[in-house]
Amino acid sequence: MITRFAPSPTGPLHLGHAYSAMLAHDMAMAAGGTFLLRIEDIDQLRSKPVWEQQIYDDLEWLGLTWTKPVMRQSDRLPAYKKALGQLSAQGLIYPCICSRSDVKRAAGAPQEGVFPMGPDGIIYPGTCRPKQKICNVKIHENLRCNMTLAADLNLGELTFEETGEDTGTRTTNAAKIGIDTGDFVVSRKHMFTSYHLSVVVDDADQKISHVVRGADIREATPIHVLLQKLLKLPTPTYHHHKLIRDETGKRLAKRDDARAISKYRAEGATPNDIRRLVDLPEV
Ligand code: GLU
Repeated sequence: MITRFAPSPTGPLHLGHAYSAMLAHDMAMAAGGTFLLRIEDIDQLRSKPVWEQQIYDDLEWLGLTWTKPVMRQSDRLPAYKKALGQLSAQGLIYPCICSRSDVKRAAGAPQEGVFPMGPDGIIYPGTCRPKQKICNVKIHENLRCNMTLAADLNLGELTFEETGEDTGTRTTNAAKIGIDTGDFVVSRKHMFTSYHLSVVVDDADQKISHVVRGADIREATPIHVLLQKLLKLPTPTYHHHKLIRDETGKRLAKRDDARAISKYRAEGATPNDIRRLVDLPEV
């Protein structure tokens, strides 16, 4: 078993991150496997070296060890470019010049105050979607996946295994993903990749067998399985875990400094105190 923890260095790790990292670590260790770390720093405007260093410090303090070298997404642009090239060669991606407000305007009136949302934000109404395949797109604009064409590819059923709180075999297909997510973004202007593309390419390159991550990302998993199919990459098993919430039931956010691991450390807590707080067995 190979698992990973893939934080973005855009703020302090909190209890929710600690739970995710320790669970992925414990699962790998219990199976005699490998635990890896990946720094998801494609958002160069929000990622900061100080947060990256604090990730290493916090994880070490928690008693976790990981196999080196650490993968950093900012070093991986050639791998993402290659994947975009593969999608482009299939005619599946197209440049989109719509701004966020253009997308909102084109999406029409929100129903009961909310726009139709998918795991990639407001479901894109397809303003820039070309009727036919276009090959060899330049990666200097936002690029979207043409789900109308993807649905015509006869990819068949896409299946993946889920373990954790909701164990079972999941089945989806490109047409359903098109309805649930719309033409999701595969590459962002100035970033030359997207969360979805990078995570799929990196999980494959790190040979991750079990993706352990929060249930908040469950809805994005069909996008990842579709990309794996299009890029001829293996599909790992997905383990979506419970989210750690505050006493009002709200999910912890990055800015929730009150539950930052560094704060618990400074206050004299031990790693086993953190384990008890998130209901993981002590070590
Ligand atoms: N970088 C993502 C996050 O911090 C991780 C997503 C994933 O595990 O796939 O939420």
